[in-house]
Amino acid sequence: MHILVLGGTTEARRLAELLVDIPGARVTSSLAGRVASPRLPPGEVRVGGFGGADGLAVWLRTHQVDALIDATHPFAETISFNAAAAAAETHVPLLALRRPGWAAGEGDRWHPVGSLAEAARALPALGERVFLTTGRMGLAAFAGLDAQWFLMRSVDAPDAPHPARMEVLLERGPFTLDGERELIRRHRIEVLVTKDSGGAATAPKLTAAREAGIPVVVVRRPPVPGGVPVAGTPEAAVTWLTGGHDRLKR
Ligand code: NAP
Repeated sequence: MHILVLGGTTEARRLAELLVDIPGARVTSSLAGRVASPRLPPGEVRVGGFGGADGLAVWLRTHQVDALIDATHPFAETISFNAAAAAAETHVPLLALRRPGWAAGEGDRWHPVGSLAEAARALPALGERVFLTTGRMGLAAFAGLDAQWFLMRSVDAPDAPHPARMEVLLERGPFTLDGERELIRRHRIEVLVTKDSGGAATAPKLTAAREAGIPVVVVRRPPVPGGVPVAGTPEAAVTWLTGGHDRLKR
């Protein structure tokens, strides 16, 4: 049985680790190729776009894929939409693997917004020194904010356009609570901007922001394409494949 995992996340790598141990399973993980030196999962790996939904449908047919798991980042909207369209066209069963989002707790000062542009519009009222953790793509949304200073953290260096007053921190998670506390203290951060990515690896910044009493602008997730079943963990995705749907026993 050939399973294609659309990856680029910790959960996708974990899923590949689980799947390669299942007798009879052939696992291919697909990466977009955005990160210069990605952490590779076990099994087969292919890198680069498919050429839209049509290209993905061709790939599914040509490589005789039996099940497709969209384990991409919750904010990777285009590939998830393409996966839904290609799965519908080819009748390949599709599951979305999405780690649960974060929830505000006691003492949090969260400002939920619908987009990076809305986050940028919210910033002037919230603070001048900004810790920006939404990734290097989409920095153009903040480029017009001349009164703000940004500490921008990403895995690879960003390209222009980006804010004029910006220090770049090239780091890959997981991050520790002590480390996040120290960053907020040392850079005198007044406001944090994050996507609702969920997961433990980057959550300590939220605790550190709560402790420091600073506001957090949280970009809400786009919805999973309609009709696509969702699993919250790699283990639940394996259950979907092996149990509920009997796919690996054909
Ligand atoms: P996106 O906007 O949804 O996708 C843009 C295009 O990139 C897609 O149309 C597709 O090209 C290609 N692509 C995306 N994911 C792919 C994959 N796993 N395998 C092959 N092609 C892929 O995606 P994005 O937000 O740029 O994210 C790119 C990758 O980085 C994703 O795999 C995602 O899991 C990972 N990532 C994203 C974020 C984030 O915040 N967006 C954060 C961490 C990791 P074609 O149309 O040519 O097929």
